[in-house]
Amino acid sequence: MDLIKNNIYQIEIEDIGNDGSGIGHIDGMAVFVKDTAIGDVANVRITKVTKKLAYGHLEEMLVPSPYRVEPVCAHAKRCGGCTLQHIAYEKQLEYKWHKVYGCLKRIGRVDNLEEIMETPVYGMEYPYHYRNKAQFPVGRDRDGNVIIGFYATRSHDIIDSDVCPIGDSINDKIIPVIKRFITEKNISTYDETTGAGLVRHVLIRVGKTTGEVMVCLVLNGHELPFADYLTNELRKLSDDERRIVSICLNINMDNTNRILGDTCVTLWGQDYITDCIGNVRYEISPLSFYQVNPTQTRALYDKVLEYADLNGNEIVWDMYCGIGTISLFLAKSAKQVYGVEIVPDAIEDARRNAEINGISNVDFFVGKAEEVVPDIYSKGGDGAYADVVVVDPPRKGCDAALLSTLVAMSPKRIVYVSCDPATLARDICILSRDGYELENAAVVDQFCQSTHCESVALVVRAVE
Ligand code: SAH
Repeated sequence: MDLIKNNIYQIEIEDIGNDGSGIGHIDGMAVFVKDTAIGDVANVRITKVTKKLAYGHLEEMLVPSPYRVEPVCAHAKRCGGCTLQHIAYEKQLEYKWHKVYGCLKRIGRVDNLEEIMETPVYGMEYPYHYRNKAQFPVGRDRDGNVIIGFYATRSHDIIDSDVCPIGDSINDKIIPVIKRFITEKNISTYDETTGAGLVRHVLIRVGKTTGEVMVCLVLNGHELPFADYLTNELRKLSDDERRIVSICLNINMDNTNRILGDTCVTLWGQDYITDCIGNVRYEISPLSFYQVNPTQTRALYDKVLEYADLNGNEIVWDMYCGIGTISLFLAKSAKQVYGVEIVPDAIEDARRNAEINGISNVDFFVGKAEEVVPDIYSKGGDGAYADVVVVDPPRKGCDAALLSTLVAMSPKRIVYVSCDPATLARDICILSRDGYELENAAVVDQFCQSTHCESVALVVRAVE
């Protein structure tokens, strides 16, 4: 049966797409339906049919899913952030496990997965207020009022919102102060269509273990009028739990979707905040990547340490090391750790972090992992050998040139930290053609209420 546009069909939702839409099947054809949950039985009107899939609009709910819950946030339906808030947390975790399982099976071609994958997912006891970083777009509504909040799903329309249930509670105090400041001092806000206007975004970072807070205004310009007034107002917000220690500007004059520009200027206080994972202290500057859910990062890194199975004599490589968080976390259990990262500022942070923690058995390199590591390997000096390699690439996964160098370096174990199960599975399939096999995998929920899915896999060299 071919699906016909505008016709209504009954469907049961069985899965969730990357944008949080429900997915059901009609005669084997996948149909994506917004605002549905796994377990819903509904009538949907088909709005678009392509060769491989279709889209439908929810017309009538026949039997609501038993996994549906009332979202905590009033904006959950429109906001692009928490696309799973209407689904019970236990079910969210189950969905993520099956997502990783499905990718490893279909794309990774791993067949004894039931024995390999850890169950259940490492989830949070309280999956709210976990984020340590928030980026709020700033703009104006049709009447010219200042609005600060979040982008609606798949758009750049700003939903005005002072509170966010997954953000830190200090955000809810900072945003109204900035909104009042922009309104009272009549400061312009950035307009994406014209490229005019000054204030683009507010970035807030919190060190959850130290209580240190950074507020950073992203400007389409070099100066903020009445900056002293704003810093004084913001400093008054510090309380027993949260201390504002850094107020800065980031300059982004480009007409681009990228939130941050390359230059930061400190208006008041430090140019970084401090946070701890386990007993390692990290200093984090505005531009550096830092995991957004510190509680779960600890769980993730503990899993990395467990899979790395170090006895103190190993040479370890940490590919895509960011500010050296994993490198330093592993350093105390290894003989020597090498890290590589593309962002120069992050490597500066990594080196400083090694120093403030008194860790001397680490060395960091700036550059693309797929260029730096093959180069070091071909020269055959320090760093050309590894017992254990950790990779933690961005969503697109590891570059093929890096994977082939890894195989040549022939480490006993590769611990793969992944934020995209599809590329994880692709890379595991590549490694398995070259003498490695998947031995263990775990899903650690870093992005509760969203479809993002973090996992860690242990890939070992098969015995010859
Ligand atoms: N392991 C770190 C960071 C992981 S995020 C942590 O746990 O905090 C991925 C990192 O890879 C980012 O810091 C990004 O800047 C970096 N990156 C992206 N492409 C890269 C490449 N080709 N070579 C090296 N690093 C890269």
